[in-house]
Amino acid sequence: MQNKKSAKPFQKGKNFKKYQNKSQSAAKPKDDEEIERIQAQIDSIDPSKVKHFSDFPLSWKTQKGIRESNYKVPTEIQRQSIGYALQGRDILGAAQTGSGKTLAFLIPVIENLFMKKWTRLDGIGAIIISPTRELAYQIFETLKKIGAHHDFSAGLIIGGKNLKFEKKRMDQCNIIICTPGRLLQHMDENPLFDASTMQVLVLDEADRCLDMGFEQTMNGIIENLPPERQTLLFSATQTKSVKDLARLSLDNAVYVAPTEQQTVTPDNLKQSYVVVNLEDKITMLWSFIKSHLKQKCIVFLSSCKQVKYIYEMFCKLRPGTSLLALYGTLHQDRRVAIYQEFCRKSNVVLFATDIASRGLDFPTVNWVIQLDCPEDVTQYIHRAGRTARHKARGESLLVLLPSEEEGMVAELKDSKINIDQIHIDPRKLFSPKGKMEGFLAQNKELKETAQRAFVSYIKSVFLMKNKKIFNVSKLNTDDYAKSLGLVVVPRVRFLERFKKRQAAAQKTNKDDGSSEESSSDEDEDDHEGTSKVSKKDDDVNFNLPHSDDSDNSEAEEELFKIKRRDHEIEVDGDSKIDDAAAKAELTAARKAKVLTKAAQAKRVLKKRIQANTKVEFNEDGTEVLDTRKQLQSDLARDYINQDEGGIDIETAKKVLREEDKFDKQRFKEIVKAKHKVQKKKSKSKKTDDVDEDDEADDFGSDADADDQQSIDLSWLPDPKKVYNVVNSDSDSSDDNEDQNADVSESESLVHRPPKRLYEKKKKSRNSTESDNIASASDDNDDDGEEEQPRKKKAKQIADKLSLNEAEIIAMQLLGK
Ligand code: ADP
Ligand code: MG
Repeated sequence: MQNKKSAKPFQKGKNFKKYQNKSQSAAKPKDDEEIERIQAQIDSIDPSKVKHFSDFPLSWKTQKGIRESNYKVPTEIQRQSIGYALQGRDILGAAQTGSGKTLAFLIPVIENLFMKKWTRLDGIGAIIISPTRELAYQIFETLKKIGAHHDFSAGLIIGGKNLKFEKKRMDQCNIIICTPGRLLQHMDENPLFDASTMQVLVLDEADRCLDMGFEQTMNGIIENLPPERQTLLFSATQTKSVKDLARLSLDNAVYVAPTEQQTVTPDNLKQSYVVVNLEDKITMLWSFIKSHLKQKCIVFLSSCKQVKYIYEMFCKLRPGTSLLALYGTLHQDRRVAIYQEFCRKSNVVLFATDIASRGLDFPTVNWVIQLDCPEDVTQYIHRAGRTARHKARGESLLVLLPSEEEGMVAELKDSKINIDQIHIDPRKLFSPKGKMEGFLAQNKELKETAQRAFVSYIKSVFLMKNKKIFNVSKLNTDDYAKSLGLVVVPRVRFLERFKKRQAAAQKTNKDDGSSEESSSDEDEDDHEGTSKVSKKDDDVNFNLPHSDDSDNSEAEEELFKIKRRDHEIEVDGDSKIDDAAAKAELTAARKAKVLTKAAQAKRVLKKRIQANTKVEFNEDGTEVLDTRKQLQSDLARDYINQDEGGIDIETAKKVLREEDKFDKQRFKEIVKAKHKVQKKKSKSKKTDDVDEDDEADDFGSDADADDQQSIDLSWLPDPKKVYNVVNSDSDSSDDNEDQNADVSESESLVHRPPKRLYEKKKKSRNSTESDNIASASDDNDDDGEEEQPRKKKAKQIADKLSLNEAEIIAMQLLGK
């Protein structure tokens, strides 16, 4: 799927044949002979005699592709339709899900082009349309396998990204597999796209392609296709609408429906339903998953938001199996990755919207659970058909609300669907509600997802066309919100308004004359009166999707975008609306203006809000009114005054360099000025310090001032520790040990003078110390007996000294 946008040959590797033009291929007698041989056999194909694919008159390249893909015996739909299709007939093929319809149209497509000697130069030969991207991808993969030995090129045109890339390659494609929207986009926008050469048109899941959801798009596509063509329509629930067939000019088509007398669902599919209250659905699902951990399951829900929430919440709850989610609002790459992962894995649960309900051939799915009731039997058949494909077995479980049971079961039985009710053992139910509440309390984002899921479910029920089955007023919304883990029930404004209008309408009916009263008595479901009132209200309320209501505004806005099919609103007069009130809401929605970017911009202009205005301030904090005045260089001024759009990178670079010079200069000046100020400050500080010292001296010590002014030297290492000086006064050996230890520790941290120098200093210090001690004792110990001879000696010396010398010595002693 990575190469989905490319036009590429089926084959890669050794079987890949180089491009051949028409003349070359025409010159190949082998192909010509083969074509002649096949042509001779085609008219006499008898489906009843076909036992193997080799019994069909097919080219050896196709036969080889089929063999290599391990297909031997054709399925019933293949056996019955391939012959007609090879003869060039239009086909309306209806066969159960998983019965092999893909090959039933792919083989004729390839053979048809082969027989016409189609080459790459001949352009588009066939267009295959699928309603979903995943299904288109799947068809493309099958085509690559069975067409591996042909030299056609195929392109997967499914949108998601890079239209440009597709555009260039469209004209090189012989077979295009596409979704309707993207095909029409190419038809409208791509000058290289030319469908006039197309020979075969295929609609897989034809009824879906032709239903209301794609109606306009398909009409646009059909207009662009040549009327002379072969058309093949396939689906498990085939369209028989004359209108549809007329649109496609199918007046002589063969209707091939091998299963018409039998059941519409596969025989290997075991189908059951269970009736559960809305508020118990999550508990039921959680318990089901916990008890089917080794199975591959798909759980269908009615909206993207529900899928997102249940998936995210269940991931947090960790059931013990892989979980995946597939829905339309995911990025295309994620969709592809999830699709592939689900195909690959065996113990896994996929939560999905109806994008996964049609055509997808996931291998070995054990269970399909329809947690939200399908909108009709057709949708039920396609969802259930994701299991029990081809000859595999599978089980389908439909979950119904008590209010849905009667209507839905009756419709299923009418369509010959064998479905039995089963009951759940309440002892086996485990409610994750408490844990869910806990997660929501912790996670605001998840709580918002839960709120959206809640609203979107109610919306989906509200929009269902079959009001006999779907009744929004019977939903126990409060308990449902709680079952999702929401403590506070979110407001559903559209429902409140709808109910209000319903009540008002009933009141008006009663107040009005008896004739109307009697008519409403006759039929309780008649909302004629309601619709009249609601229409008036609509003009006020529903045309204003951007009202002041901020919560749920997104959800409400989306309510008015009709995404789903079959809401038979409109159009040609032959469609009816079941619920007149819903019609009023929806018609109002169509009237509601789409808020485009341009419209938004206009609004802003009207309000005179200046978007993206920038206010600049200079360093002093004052607003710079014209930034241009700040520009210094002439070059910059010239550049800014040029009114040319866009940016000339080279000139802009030059301007910046030029401005940079001025900026540097200015910066230098600012730094200089700052230095000056700092110098001034430090000068004045010095004088202040002196004053403070004086003050301290004068008025006594001020502890705080001292702390502030004195230099903190506490960070310096203790010199005693550094120099390993043992304090002679200290008599504790323990202390010494500690000190030594500290020293050794601090060794690495402090610089130490060389040992020799240190010893020298120590010596000299000791000597001076002893000198001082001697002289001091001279001064102090006057009365000691030992002092007498010393005093005598001093006197003798003093006597010998001159007056001057004696004075100097006296001064020195005083100084000390
Ligand atoms: P449908 O389109 O009818 O739902 P598919 O074409 O998707 O069914 O085929 C369903 C499965 O059956 C696929 O896995 C496909 O490979 C397989 N299949 C189709 N034809 C044959 C065949 N003749 N023999 C064996 N398997 C087949
Ligand atoms: Mg199919």
